[in-house]
Amino acid sequence: MSFTIANLLRRSSDLELVSESAALEIELLLSHVIKKDRIWLKTWPDFQLKDEQVLFFNQLFDRRLQGEPLAFILGSKGFWTLDYAVNSHTLIPRPETELLVEIALSLELNDNSKIIDLGTGTGAIALALASERPNWQIDATDAVHQALELAEFNRNMFGLTNVNIFYSDWLDSVSRRDSASSYDLIVSNPPYIEQNDPHLQQGDVRFEPSSALVAGLDGLDALRIIIEQAPMHLSPNGWLLVEHGYDQGNSVRRLFDLTGFKQIKTHADLNLQDRVTAGCLIAPP
Ligand code: GLN
Repeated sequence: MSFTIANLLRRSSDLELVSESAALEIELLLSHVIKKDRIWLKTWPDFQLKDEQVLFFNQLFDRRLQGEPLAFILGSKGFWTLDYAVNSHTLIPRPETELLVEIALSLELNDNSKIIDLGTGTGAIALALASERPNWQIDATDAVHQALELAEFNRNMFGLTNVNIFYSDWLDSVSRRDSASSYDLIVSNPPYIEQNDPHLQQGDVRFEPSSALVAGLDGLDALRIIIEQAPMHLSPNGWLLVEHGYDQGNSVRRLFDLTGFKQIKTHADLNLQDRVTAGCLIAPP
């Protein structure tokens, strides 16, 4: 069999064992190997790969067959309008997290607002917001040093100058509220999976660090800390916006309420699952 594009694309049937979007994934792998876009692949089905390209393709294909996430194999993942470098030290950006970005942008904050993204990982949320609102001053923190390096790499690659990235375990290393350092918005996509959740043994999450995924027995350990710490760091009409599990809406709203938040609302993602809860420190007029 000759190693033409058309022939290699036929191997997508093998990938169906590990992926629900095998046809797309094999095109992305092949595009990556021959450095041409997917339209080019469709245009030149009889193009014959060189031996070293076939070898490289086979290596990547085998890694995917072993279950390694496509994003780690390609080294990047699209989120919002940007293509982020990713690695195994932190979470791969997920489409559902774009909901959090959308809500943050819809809050009608001032042009010069101060924002912080806690547990920024790749920088997904902070950098997406920075790209949309160049006048916002955005801080982004993480407690994993390799994640901070990755977020800095992405910030520099995108040429965003309004994001300050530094070490902090949630808000522990962030100075407390004073006129100069309070935030108009705190955002976070923290770990929120229950430590015994069987889904941790399936799919991409097996290859991602548990520090980015798991938060105690009920999955709420990180959210409890963030919600409790947030008011000390928010301006009087500041907002807190967090991502959480599909079945954690009630618990998260209750934590917001106990901490004194008002205007508490949970938003559903595209799969109609509860995903993001927002609250503000002041009640509506
Ligand atoms: N949404 C992710 C998942 O279920 C988890 C991300 C997280 O814990 N922040 O795979």
